[in-house]
Amino acid sequence: AQGDATGAEIERSLSEKVIKDNRIKIKENIFVLDILTGHNICYGVLVFDNNTEKVMAYLTKSTILASGGAGQLYCNTTNPDIATGDGIALAYRGGAKVADLEFIQFHPTALYHQGSPKFLISEAVRGEGAILKNLKGEPFMSIYHPHAELAPRDIVARAIVDQMKKTKSNYVHLDATKIKHKFSKRFPNIHKKCLSLGINPEKEYIPIAPASHYTMGGIKTDIWGQTNLTNLYACGECSSTGVHGANRLASNSLLEGLVFGNRIAQKIKENKTYYSIKKLKELNLSYSLPREKYKDYHSVKLKQELQNLMWNKVGIIRNSSNLKQAKQKIKEWKLLIFKSKLETVEEFELANLIILADLVTNAALLREESRGAHYREDFPERDDINWKKHIIY
Ligand SMILES: Cc1cc2nc3c(=O)[nH]c(=O)nc-3n(C[C@H](O)[C@H](O)[C@H](O)COP(=O)(O)OP(=O)(O)OC[C@H]3O[C@@H](n4cnc5c(N)ncnc54)[C@H](O)[C@@H]3O)c2cc1C
Repeated sequence: AQGDATGAEIERSLSEKVIKDNRIKIKENIFVLDILTGHNICYGVLVFDNNTEKVMAYLTKSTILASGGAGQLYCNTTNPDIATGDGIALAYRGGAKVADLEFIQFHPTALYHQGSPKFLISEAVRGEGAILKNLKGEPFMSIYHPHAELAPRDIVARAIVDQMKKTKSNYVHLDATKIKHKFSKRFPNIHKKCLSLGINPEKEYIPIAPASHYTMGGIKTDIWGQTNLTNLYACGECSSTGVHGANRLASNSLLEGLVFGNRIAQKIKENKTYYSIKKLKELNLSYSLPREKYKDYHSVKLKQELQNLMWNKVGIIRNSSNLKQAKQKIKEWKLLIFKSKLETVEEFELANLIILADLVTNAALLREESRGAHYREDFPERDDINWKKHIIY
């Protein structure tokens, strides 16, 4: 749909339908803090209303989390600022099971430029014939895999990291000049973005580097989007339905979101036994945690430190020593942030990121093998005898 803007097209058509349907009440600028649970049942959500700066409870018959991934765990990411894994962290806090969090996919070819998120140069560009070259102008992918440019994402990402190390550079090049006759037509958005940064992909090489891209793990669900908590469902990138295994194939996540969103709707229609109240109500609550404001706490700085730590120690190539160092640091930050009073959306998001960083690091340390997107240089082989299983928290 719409060339290289499939997600935008899904959003456009869904939004159009939702706006037209007057049975659907839209609430914007509302941040979900927690799920309300008891006896393994989800009764709704606790939210922070950014418009009024009030904390409210929404009691619901069914709650569906569709809050996206956690790319913001890393300093280099293709994900938008909202991808702070809130849904996964708050579901975990509320007693929902989370699975496969060590499997974070790094996209090999994000445009190398200042700022975040990093602009994605789609796999399809290599599919059409673009070639990766190091800074000496040498193609290198055939050294790493017989499928060269078309090798799986994790292999291409590691090969690029290796070449970056060898050439002491922060990026490599993508040479799309051989497909210049079709580039602008086939990839109109990429073409436009490159031109806006002063790179003409029809004539020049595109500087690229890997970036975190997709959270394979998340809230564990069955194949109907049902979590282990009654009346709580999850779909899209925040969920772990299992369909992506350890290494999602390109283009499958939008499809997953559509399929499981639809399945959840069917399931909810069939569900006759609600444990929740009959009608949706809004309650005014007072919400104050008995915490001291920690004096040296600075959310922007701490978020950057966390993202750098995750990139350097829990990133594309992992090992026990780095993971243990990360675990220790995250433990300190966890203590720090949960002593502090959380007041803004940025602080709530940071707390969620720290919870997730802890879970991702623990799972990555535990899984002493390499599988899909999880690569341990100290355990480089896949180990089906000991590790053909999920890590669930
Ligand atoms: C650059 C890029 C290109 C991609 N290309 C493709 C592709 O070609 N094909 C493909 O299949 N996949 C692609 N993906 C992956 C795919 O886009 C995502 O997996 C998918 O959009 C996730 O959809 P989602 O609905 O689960 O979450 P999102 O689209 O991230 O939506 C989550 C929503 O939840 C809201 N939210 C989050 N936390 C809270 C909170 N605490 N309270 C209230 N609201 C909250 C957010 O504001 C957001 O509106 C791409 C991803 C990126 C980043």
